Amino acid sequence: MRMGISEIGTALKMRPGLKVGEIDFRATPGFYGSKNDGRAVQDERTAVLSDLQEMLYANGRTGDTRSVLLILQGMDTAGKGGIVRHVIGSVDPQGVDIASFGVPTEEEKSHHFLWRIDRKLPRPGRIGVFDRSHYEDVLIGRARELAPPDVIEARYAEINEWERELVEERGITLVKVAMFVSRDEQRDRLLERLDRPDKYWKFNPGDIDERKLWPEYATAYQIVLDRTSTDYAPWNVLQADRKWYARLAVTDLLIDALESLDLSWPKPDFDPAVERRRLLES
Ligand code: AMP
Ligand code: MG
Repeated sequence: MRMGISEIGTALKMRPGLKVGEIDFRATPGFYGSKNDGRAVQDERTAVLSDLQEMLYANGRTGDTRSVLLILQGMDTAGKGGIVRHVIGSVDPQGVDIASFGVPTEEEKSHHFLWRIDRKLPRPGRIGVFDRSHYEDVLIGRARELAPPDVIEARYAEINEWERELVEERGITLVKVAMFVSRDEQRDRLLERLDRPDKYWKFNPGDIDERKLWPEYATAYQIVLDRTSTDYAPWNVLQADRKWYARLAVTDLLIDALESLDLSWPKPDFDPAVERRRLLES
């Protein structure tokens, strides 16, 4: 088993000075190979991820309260759904807690913005996945001015403090992934949703309105990356025009997170030799 942070994991970590406007959307940082090479490596890494996930689950069944939470942020068509389907879909579903966050309901709006998020945190031993998250409140929240500027402004520190509590006090390892597609790629993916009956369901006319706010979103993402990438919960900046790379990258990021927990198979609370004898005598 590989230990330490993978090359992809290292390459994607947010670093000071990184500009959203300068992202090379088709690059494959930390991976040197073609799509075909990627496919072979993907199978290998998927097997590693699946074993680690089972170990996390086994530990959760025997009292370990830790969990891992993958937070996926990205604009429409960035590929969040594809990650859920293809990466998370490759591990045992009973070990996964998935939540997606859309426009808040009236009830949710009556609470603090973190209220609905906190309720969906993964259970012990689970891999949790957030398809969108509390960051919407400083992304669409900022791009569309859904709250007064001082309220939005205060949210960054609130997010940092809450995430610190999750990591340091509640045993949750955060894997934050901001997925970026180029404007052209987004157009092509939206066009596909309009050209194929089997994709209509994914299209929402409002997606075009959000697309028109591209510069506002770029600014909002930049501020998020600059202000909420911390030692305990760093952002990973993922160039997502190549779907195969995005999947491989998230697989690696999850492997890194699980390896950092230093898991082993739980010790039995019975004596296997005694049980073996009893079984053979039965
Ligand atoms: P989808 O992920 O395609 O189902 O779309 C969900 C929509 O809900 C996106 O347009 C999000 O920007 C929007 N959304 C999610 N969270 C919030 C929030 N806290 N405030 C306003 N809109 C939100
Ligand atoms: Mg959508």
